[in-house]
Amino acid sequence: MSEQPVLAVIGRPNVGKSTLVNRIIGRREAVVEDTPGVTRDRVSYDALWNGRTFTVVDTGGWDPDAKGMAERIAQQAEVAMTVADAILFVVDSRVGITDIDERVVKLLRASKKPVILAANKVDDQRGELEAAALWNLGLGEPMPISALHGRGSGDLLDAILDALPDPPEEDLDAPEGPRRVAIVGKPNVGKSSLLNKLAREERVVVDNASGTTVDPVDEIIELGGREWTFIDTAGIRRRVKEASGHEYYASLRTSTAIERAEVAVMIVDASEPMSEQDVRIINSIEETGRALVIAFNKWDLVDEERRYYLEREIDRELVQVPWAPRINIAALTGWHVDRLVRALDAALEGWETRVPTGALNSFLGRLVSEHPHPVRGGKQPKILFGTQPSTAPPTFVLFTSGKLEAGYLRFIERRLREEFGFVGSPIHIQQRVRE
Ligand code: GDP
Ligand code: GDP
Repeated sequence: MSEQPVLAVIGRPNVGKSTLVNRIIGRREAVVEDTPGVTRDRVSYDALWNGRTFTVVDTGGWDPDAKGMAERIAQQAEVAMTVADAILFVVDSRVGITDIDERVVKLLRASKKPVILAANKVDDQRGELEAAALWNLGLGEPMPISALHGRGSGDLLDAILDALPDPPEEDLDAPEGPRRVAIVGKPNVGKSSLLNKLAREERVVVDNASGTTVDPVDEIIELGGREWTFIDTAGIRRRVKEASGHEYYASLRTSTAIERAEVAVMIVDASEPMSEQDVRIINSIEETGRALVIAFNKWDLVDEERRYYLEREIDRELVQVPWAPRINIAALTGWHVDRLVRALDAALEGWETRVPTGALNSFLGRLVSEHPHPVRGGKQPKILFGTQPSTAPPTFVLFTSGKLEAGYLRFIERRLREEFGFVGSPIHIQQRVRE
């Protein structure tokens, strides 16, 4: 899923942003809302011009209860600068430049994003003169338009396409090299047995002998017809007789391996009760933001009774990571080891899932209208807009008025997963609060 470029429309109230957005998306139905205090239910739309699509984010309908206009504009600008590839700054040419416009220009300059300056309400020839005065903003050529009548809108759309980045080439072939996998877990759970099973004879030892002595040794192993880099296999293979002093180094190695990996395979000895140490390693994978697969090893030793207890341990210890794919294996015999590849693929796919801005905001709109944030002390925090600036792991930024409660954030995470998947991956949700 490739994200289309985003154009954010900002400007003071009543300059004609919504009218212009309607014009850009080529729709007549009223987005312009004449009832004061009514929030528009959507903020982003898909637009198509000359065969190219982009997302238009209308900042106009936000936050009817913002305290001051300056505040509101600063917020628009902040959101625009965070999410947009280009910014359309709309000024009412009949009114001319206001103090607030000048402050916005300062913010926009700092953002280094391309800015298109629209001089709106130039309904006829005479208005062109007023539009020309907007050169004084220092944003380059003002584009005279009439959002209401359509005058100049073709040129404006051409300028918008010029400012937006070219559509990304679909990356047909895989990106940079084999996937990096870390096999982690407590001592004696079966890490080296699994590695040996996977590597069989075909392994290629990659010795990072680039002069540095601390480089761990990785191995490239072919699984499911593709190559994978297994990280720090030397650390796994070396059967260090672990005296207590080595504990610290073992855990340091584990963290480093997790850091360097894209996906971690957490090996749990299914024949033994799960321990705090297992949970600690799993937490650190989650905190580091890596994809996670949990493999319950030594399944040949699991009988009915043990299974009963294991299920309870899973309920108790793995509540944090219900999204991680789980497989049962026996590394010693190779039983079900072939299922690892599918689990790895699923986890990596979840880890790299990107939700387009439009889809995310219509999802958020539905979520908020069905389950609004509880009112606390007479106030109700609102989600104004959301975006997913990055993947690996998926990271979301929510622009809110008021701080969302932890419980509500967990609820959002749960619903995001129901809607978009993210199997095998932690999700990070950040908020930017405007009081
Ligand atoms: P927003 O608050 O910036 O989203 O502004 P709106 O799109 O709601 O427009 C505010 C008012 O300006 C509405 O009454 C529009 O009909 C009017 N308006 C918008 N564009 C133009 C234009 O190009 N010419 C004229 N004359 N009026 C316009
Ligand atoms: P590591 O310390 O995590 O690398 O664990 P090892 O791979 O060295 O395994 C520790 C012990 O568990 C060894 O005696 C292995 O033979 C045994 N072991 C590993 N996998 C299995 C398995 O699937 N079933 C059984 N029964 N034993 C296993």
